[in-house]
Amino acid sequence: MIHFYNTINRKLEIFTPLEDKKVKLYTCGPTVYNFAHIGNLRAYMFEDLLRRFLEFSGYDVHHVMNITDIDDKTIRRSMESGETLEIFTEKYTQAFFNDLDTLNIRRAHNYPRATEFITQMIDTIKVLIDKGFAYSSDDGSVFFKVSKFLAYGKLANINPDDMRVGSRVENDEYEKEEVRDFALWKGKKDGEGDIHWDSPWGRGRPGWHIECSVMSTHYLGSHFDIHCGGVDNIFPHHENEIAQSCAATGDAFVNYWLHNEHLLVDGQKMSKSENNFYTLRDLLDKGMSPEAIRYTLLITHYRQKLNFTFDKIKASQKAINRLRELNRRLNNISLESGEDISKMTNLMLQNFNDRLADDLNISGALGEVFIWVNKLFALIDKQKLSAESAQSGIKAFKKIDEILGVIELIDEPLSEDIDQLIVDRKQARADKNWALADEIRDKLDGLNIILEDTPQGTIWKKKT
Ligand code: AMP
Ligand code: ZN
Repeated sequence: MIHFYNTINRKLEIFTPLEDKKVKLYTCGPTVYNFAHIGNLRAYMFEDLLRRFLEFSGYDVHHVMNITDIDDKTIRRSMESGETLEIFTEKYTQAFFNDLDTLNIRRAHNYPRATEFITQMIDTIKVLIDKGFAYSSDDGSVFFKVSKFLAYGKLANINPDDMRVGSRVENDEYEKEEVRDFALWKGKKDGEGDIHWDSPWGRGRPGWHIECSVMSTHYLGSHFDIHCGGVDNIFPHHENEIAQSCAATGDAFVNYWLHNEHLLVDGQKMSKSENNFYTLRDLLDKGMSPEAIRYTLLITHYRQKLNFTFDKIKASQKAINRLRELNRRLNNISLESGEDISKMTNLMLQNFNDRLADDLNISGALGEVFIWVNKLFALIDKQKLSAESAQSGIKAFKKIDEILGVIELIDEPLSEDIDQLIVDRKQARADKNWALADEIRDKLDGLNIILEDTPQGTIWKKKT
């Protein structure tokens, strides 16, 4: 049984999808006016862990993530850069996809861009006005009337009557009836360039929150399973999404709300506005490996703050090297008999799964893995692991890496290919075809593989 902490009910709950063995998942994506920082990437890594675990558990996941390519920041920055909004945002959208690939984050099935859904957003806003949940103002803007939606505040656990203008309730200078009302449509203002669309309320552009309501429903239906984002999205973004969606469709919207805590630097939230951020490129330029960065972002429980340090990356690299070393040694075993490891391997896999099923307890799951890893190293050192057991160990390893995604990230040639080259070389030597044997050795050398002749046969090692 899988349990997740559901923000809206503030407790751990058994996860039951609406449709058997299918999960509909929506995750809030990037605002593409700059490179993602590793705090953003922590959010995407948490969502990758969630997605991978659901798939590992046999669910067919439909994952949608939006790309915010229109808002105050994208408009302002594109104007400053002198590029069109489209060209400017496309550059950062591609950079975002590159980051996902570098970190081996599984791609969502759809990445709708806000600018592709303006018509649908206008349609939803019309429905909200028709149903009395929204009103237009003289400046051509449209606002959601918070007082009309009685369940407002349930996700963020706030009383809407207590909402005053302050850091969390923006007063964005539009003509709204009440300060807590939020913009669905922003009427065109001077100095905003030419980025606006026609609407029944004049030219303008959509507010931020409406895009996620419209695009999630477009792909996943009006009621779906899981919605994610960082904790800063809980209020007002997700609270407003609930209000818009439930008011427009009359349906329940989302069953499970999952939010990741922040990544911090020196105890402060990493953010673009604080200018205390690292991008992925910054870390790669400092010589850190993608797999160590991935592992570091992965292994702190998603509901705990993660204080980012370079020492953490070093520790991750060490842990990964140990996993790689085991993988390599398992691939080199040729003993015919040894201890039966199937019981301890099955137990490890079971425990690994159980820890993750407990609200994605990744550190608990890794604890189980390393107990098993240490036992295997001990057996290998004592020459008590047979080739058959080693193969079952490799299989278990692949299973674990479906979640970790670090070994598959390392661009290593497949061990089977190397084994075949070694067999071919042996044959070439037996045939006294020295030219071919040398050619194969050179090929292996090019793959950074060195051969060692041992009493158990030829084994290979990766050059360090
Ligand atoms: P944005 O591009 O600002 O819309 O943010 C994209 C995602 O990153 C959202 O889910 C945010 O909640 C999340 N996020 C932003 N800053 C951090 C941080 N320092 N740590 C973790 N997640 C963050
Ligand atoms: Zn969103």
